[in-house]
Amino acid sequence: MARRLPVVGGNWKMHTTRTEARVLVAALRAELGGLPGAQVVVFPPSPWLGDVADALAGSNIEVGAQDVHWEPKGAFTGAISAPMLAGVASWVIVGHSERRHVFGETAEETNAKLRAVVAAGLRPVLAVGERREESDRTADVLRRQLDDGFRGFHGLPPEVVIAYEPVWAIGTGLAASPEDAQARCALVRSMLAERFGAPAADGCRIQYGGSVNAANIEGYAKQPDIDGALVGGASLDAAAFAAICRAVAAA
Ligand code: PEP
Repeated sequence: MARRLPVVGGNWKMHTTRTEARVLVAALRAELGGLPGAQVVVFPPSPWLGDVADALAGSNIEVGAQDVHWEPKGAFTGAISAPMLAGVASWVIVGHSERRHVFGETAEETNAKLRAVVAAGLRPVLAVGERREESDRTADVLRRQLDDGFRGFHGLPPEVVIAYEPVWAIGTGLAASPEDAQARCALVRSMLAERFGAPAADGCRIQYGGSVNAANIEGYAKQPDIDGALVGGASLDAAAFAAICRAVAAA
């Protein structure tokens, strides 16, 4: 099997002023613009997508959106559609735990967003993960989220990335151990294999996310079923994010 190219995403969430975004992206371009061995994607707040895309033009750092609406257009004040993103972003995070648990996104909505992203020719990062109170039934939660997310799909969408992110590890400093993260990512891969076949599952990149930083990334990067990371807080610090990307590329 060909080696999967690891992918590191930086989810800036609702952080950065326009000036801060410009400074951050310039630093990332200087640090990571020519990094071999890993794909790097930044997910800035939507008002800065154009600025960030312009600042990264001609570099190998890619741009993604943090969320999307499932309809292509319409009376949905405040929402952004996948066709609107096409041209400025090439990736979209779908089903992030903050969308699911803070904004109440339903399984049907996550599925509709995934369809919209694929239909627009964008690449999805589908985020899945259990809450603390679901830790005794993680496999059931992951299976349900994958089944619901891919409802109606007959094949794994090309270039889809799965982000395994235990909700209790996001933004808490309580990262999963590399061994536990590896076990969960392997479980996700086995579920993808059951549904879509082993070749598709073997080719699919699965990230770990949840309090990843420059000090702990190495433990995840060397795991066989972990193909990079989705990084929140540490992605706002150019030096830390660059160190994470380099560690992933070197693993
Ligand atoms: C995330 O937002 O997906 C995330 C993993 O955040 P953090 O790295 O801050 O835990």
